[in-house]
Amino acid sequence: MAERILIIEDEEDLVNTLEYALGKEGYDVVSSLNGMGGLEHANAKPIPDLVLLDLNLPDMSGLEVCRRIREMPQLKALPVVMMTAKSEEIDRVMGFEMGADDYVVKPFSVRELVLRVKAILRRAQPTQEKPAQNDFGILRVDQDAHQVWVGEEEVVLTALEFRLLVTFMERKGRAQSRDTLLSDVWGYGLGVTTRTVDTHVKRLRMKLLDAGKYIETLRGVGYRFCAKPDEAQG
Ligand code: CA
Repeated sequence: MAERILIIEDEEDLVNTLEYALGKEGYDVVSSLNGMGGLEHANAKPIPDLVLLDLNLPDMSGLEVCRRIREMPQLKALPVVMMTAKSEEIDRVMGFEMGADDYVVKPFSVRELVLRVKAILRRAQPTQEKPAQNDFGILRVDQDAHQVWVGEEEVVLTALEFRLLVTFMERKGRAQSRDTLLSDVWGYGLGVTTRTVDTHVKRLRMKLLDAGKYIETLRGVGYRFCAKPDEAQG
């Protein structure tokens, strides 16, 4: 079945352009010119596989739409790409805080966006050969269900944070540079900087509560996930 992409954007010309470009790639595209309609589409069956979300909508902000999407349990893993005319760092950080997985700044190349959508959807697919459950000290990760627990407490991660965590855990005890993480977790170099990595690691650590200590900062190098749980400092 074709993967479904939801576009929430009030610029009709841009919606038409994106619908055409994504439709040509074989995606099933639905769109809404406002936030409320977009939320209805997001929650309707079949639920979308990815959302392209404008930051400035007529009825509510894209950040609010993103926040409400994250509140719906069935949508917590849904990749959200924010589209914004503003490039200020504050908006990026806000977007990531609200659970956006990626950012594109207008005007962007439609071809570039299509490639990015493909990369995100490829990464969002569960891989068969990996173990479904992964325990590490107080941390428990169910890759198929996209669920994470710290002790008895379930932690809700965005699709990108989840990918980041799984990448760390696959490389226990090995230093990961910001550039390596950018290329392996984000998969492309445009519009994201090594600072993006720091923002996400910080957020991930915070969400992981006591298990956040398993991710160590290596000054001047990058990050490292502990080889053994009892190795963690603090
Ligand atoms: Ca707009």
